[in-house]
Amino acid sequence: MNFFNPFYSLPRRLAVIVGTRPNFVKAAPFLREAKNHPRFDYTVIHTGQHFDQNMSEVFFAELGIPRPDVFLNPGGEKHTEKIALMFDQMKDVFKQHKFAGAIVFGDVNSTLAGALAAIKHNVRLAHIEAGLRSHDRRMPEEINRVIVDHLAHLHFVTEQSGVENLRREGVKERKIHLVGNIMIESLELYRNKIEASPILAQLQLKPKGYILVTIHRQENTDSKQALAEILQLVAGLKNQYQVVFPLHPGTKKRIEEYGLASFLTGLTVIEPVGYFDFVKLTKDSLGVVTDSGGIQEETSHLGIPCATLRDNTERPVTLELGSNKLFPIAEATSSEILQHLKRLDFKPGLIPFWDSGVSKRIFQVLDNWEI
Ligand code: UDP
Repeated sequence: MNFFNPFYSLPRRLAVIVGTRPNFVKAAPFLREAKNHPRFDYTVIHTGQHFDQNMSEVFFAELGIPRPDVFLNPGGEKHTEKIALMFDQMKDVFKQHKFAGAIVFGDVNSTLAGALAAIKHNVRLAHIEAGLRSHDRRMPEEINRVIVDHLAHLHFVTEQSGVENLRREGVKERKIHLVGNIMIESLELYRNKIEASPILAQLQLKPKGYILVTIHRQENTDSKQALAEILQLVAGLKNQYQVVFPLHPGTKKRIEEYGLASFLTGLTVIEPVGYFDFVKLTKDSLGVVTDSGGIQEETSHLGIPCATLRDNTERPVTLELGSNKLFPIAEATSSEILQHLKRLDFKPGLIPFWDSGVSKRIFQVLDNWEI
């Protein structure tokens, strides 16, 4: 590099803010592609929202994500307290670095805290996975999505519904970019490693011989009644199929607190697993029962039936394909769920731009971003 060259300019520094399991899966292809774009330097900020081996470290190791430059340690009990502490701790990082831009992913509390920190420090903000709407303001994630999208200067969108939502909310056309689903890019990038996962043998499972379950949404776990209803539905599946249930730490805590552990009898309850193991478990399952956002997308891409235990979804393209079906917990029955999971007629890979070119499309825009 020739620093005396008048046309040489120092790389622009971007803050890349991550904090949870789905954030890590989305950040991996972004940071991998970033190496090919010398216009930028990066400071990776880990908010500490998910911090342990199962929920954080395994993703950095498996997906080759560079070690974060900054680790926050927000502590706090309530969600609101945690958001405030993350936001406050980011202040020093933003003061120290002169960021030209900030990148946030998805809809979690770390996304909101990162977006607020960027805007308060006059830093331009790009939101990856913008525009999704469940139109259900009871969901904390929906509030996060709406606020972050209205603060952001650039919106990278996964599906056409997101483009329409942003237009309807008055976001200018030039800020909206339908680039596809970066979480699916991870899946494509690591297909061989996913395929090679030994998890089926380890758990003594046969392909299509088991159902995979994950539950973690706050509206499902913060109410004893809702969680009991869900566990009852899940328990109703175990007579016909083995049920594998990697238990999210938040859900585990609630099950213990509410005294609901007896519902887990007869299920294969395990700790959350790494990314390769989880996608392998998904791919070879009969079907998946979940309230996760990302897992609705991964099952749709893989053509695996998914029963989503929610009243609505912010990812309507997954319903259009048919492989994902909503089962509102107040009305659902285990036998209806089972009937859906036994369908074998779904085809993989049908959603436009859900492929391995997403981060390249994002950088086509970032390389020309006026920052
Ligand atoms: N996942 C994982 N191990 C697990 C459960 C999920 O690696 O035990 C992955 C899954 O493949 C997907 C992401 O975590 O890529 C989804 O995260 P989560 O369901 O926690 O969040 P959401 O998508 O609902 O925001």
